[in-house]
Amino acid sequence: MRSTNPLADVVIIGGGIIGLAIAYQVARRSDLRVVLLDKGNGVGEGSTGASSAVLRHRYSFDEMVALARDGVDAYREWPAFTGLTHPRAVFEAAGVLWMPGDDGDWASVEHRRMQSLGVPSEVLDDRALAKRFPAFSPCRHAPDVQTGIEHGCEGGSKHLFESTGGFIDPVAAAEDLVEASLREGVDVRYGANVAQVRQLAGRMAGVTLNDGTAIDAPCVVNAAGPWCNDIFRMLEIECPWTLAPTRIQVLYLDRPPELIGAIPVSIDMVGGVYFRLQNRGQQLVVGSTLSSDEREQVANPDEFDRFVDAEFSRSRLHALHHRLPALPYKGSVRGYCGLYTINREDVHPIVGRTPVEGFLVAIGFSGHGFKLAPAVGSLIAQSITGQRLDFDTAVSPAFLSFDRQPLALSDKSVLA
Ligand SMILES: Cc1cc2nc3c(=O)[nH]c(=O)nc-3n(C[C@H](O)[C@H](O)[C@H](O)COP(=O)(O)OP(=O)(O)OC[C@H]3O[C@@H](n4cnc5c(N)ncnc54)[C@H](O)[C@@H]3O)c2cc1C
Repeated sequence: MRSTNPLADVVIIGGGIIGLAIAYQVARRSDLRVVLLDKGNGVGEGSTGASSAVLRHRYSFDEMVALARDGVDAYREWPAFTGLTHPRAVFEAAGVLWMPGDDGDWASVEHRRMQSLGVPSEVLDDRALAKRFPAFSPCRHAPDVQTGIEHGCEGGSKHLFESTGGFIDPVAAAEDLVEASLREGVDVRYGANVAQVRQLAGRMAGVTLNDGTAIDAPCVVNAAGPWCNDIFRMLEIECPWTLAPTRIQVLYLDRPPELIGAIPVSIDMVGGVYFRLQNRGQQLVVGSTLSSDEREQVANPDEFDRFVDAEFSRSRLHALHHRLPALPYKGSVRGYCGLYTINREDVHPIVGRTPVEGFLVAIGFSGHGFKLAPAVGSLIAQSITGQRLDFDTAVSPAFLSFDRQPLALSDKSVLA
């Protein structure tokens, strides 16, 4: 798809983890001239910088499990994937613990499904949980997160443990992809604000920056995260998907010495929280898994409240204390906010070609984009170049395609 007299063959709008993964995946398999443009001053000013970068596998749809598996494989083998001998980011092999509470056979059913999809997992009973993760309460009953009043905790449910999941530092990983992309010849430009996307007779023609710089290209990728709707507006095309930039709150707190033993990445479906360690185990990052905490749409992704609400802190702290009793059930905690871009139709991303020749999208990632990025880069790069390479995903591009029907789902939270 090399054009006759272009400044670029492929322009990628957005240098978050998705745009970077696409740039790197295209460049490492082709000699196409790739230009990556980002309006920020550096890496991580969008959703990527706020990401908890949890690398888990379990999703409702098998295709999502496969995309997550292929993405997490790349993070697990980060030096081999990036070709960097000493990358900044290091995969933290903490494992991922799912605590479904009173949900019958959920853990066993999901364990069998994970096994069939090549994701190692185990079912833990309360004894195994206590041995491996002594800080955890096995309680299967939902805490009263309004008052924090304690109930008589009771175990007795089964828990699912993904042994090959974990987490990674999101900004360090993005910086690694900048370095790897530069090495592969990508023209990476931060401080480059795309003001116009041009098409001619239904085909991509290129982009123009707000300083007037024009870059002609037959292929443009919208990887603008929460700003993705701006790009559709520039093209004057209607996007059939409702992609909502949505304010998401995250807490962090210091790890007290009483919190003993290993702490995996944890998804407490009973209390509606997820958490993981950060800062070499000195702190916990805590987020919500409740769809009620994914409702605050922001009108302008450049301006939103970055402080956490007192009510959010209070209720999430109650839930956290219920699961990790060594933590206080109340007190002041710090936090920050970032943006999910939620596809309101079915909370799954939109990836691939559009009806405009040469215009591709990788958008609507909710709380999933970090782990999926290497696989999404692979899908787009396969579509643009027709080439396959190591670390590629074999998931069909139809699964997340622009022209698909919305997927049928009962739960539209980040756990979907
Ligand atoms: C609080 C929080 C926690 C999360 N936790 C997880 C997790 O645990 N696991 C997981 O897998 N995912 C998680 N996610 C989701 C994941 O972080 C995102 O899906 C992912 O970072 C999206 O990356 P992106 O590149 O699409 O968007 P972004 O990182 O927002 O990048 C888009 C870029 O486009 C640029 N841009 C926009 N408009 C223009 C323009 N006109 N010209 C030039 N550049 C432009 C912006 O500057 C920006 O840098 C989390 C997200 C948040 C907010």
